[in-house]
Amino acid sequence: MTQNNKVVIFLGPPGAGKGTQAARLAAEQNLVQLSTGDILRDHVARDTELGRQVKPILDAGHLVPDDILIALIRDRLAGMEPVRVIFDGFPRTTAQAEALDVLLEELGAPASAVPLLEVPDQVLIDRIVDRGRQAAERGEKVRSDDNEETARRRQQVYREQTQPLIDYYAARGHLYTVNGVGSMDEVYSRITQGMK
Ligand code: AMP
Repeated sequence: MTQNNKVVIFLGPPGAGKGTQAARLAAEQNLVQLSTGDILRDHVARDTELGRQVKPILDAGHLVPDDILIALIRDRLAGMEPVRVIFDGFPRTTAQAEALDVLLEELGAPASAVPLLEVPDQVLIDRIVDRGRQAAERGEKVRSDDNEETARRRQQVYREQTQPLIDYYAARGHLYTVNGVGSMDEVYSRITQGMK
């Protein structure tokens, strides 16, 4: 039933809280969360062929090639009915956004909401470094890219390659800006309010 389709695309820099907010929205609105970072890290952890290929790219804070990501997403969307999904960390380039548009068009499920989480740069770096420190304190695995140097590189990559998507989605509608500074609940309610 196409009227049950819902496609949410989270935009925002690394550390903005996309993963946390997307997980909650997915749970509350019965959506599948597609976090490309999580999918890639899972491949690295399982030491698959893809994992071995992308590990140095993740470690350096660069972007994995578009064709790899587009194939991953195409696989995940195949046969999904209804299409109820949150993209978190995808698309990150204009080529990815264009490919996603084609896939969603084929599925008859265009993007319904594109929240953009905004957080000042230094707050982002502090959050990422804290996330690494807290994981270490809890004895959990620390993301290899959650350190200050790589966080700054990821921020730079975001500015150069992902920020242009703001205009891309603004031109197509559905984009709205959310202040990402505040408690988890505050930010969440801003996201759902903007969704209507
Ligand atoms: P994230 O967990 O979203 O911060 O992603 C972690 C890392 O995975 C990124 O720094 C990239 O190396 C890679 N990655 C995740 N999503 C994408 C994407 N859509 N395109 C290219 N690389 C990605």
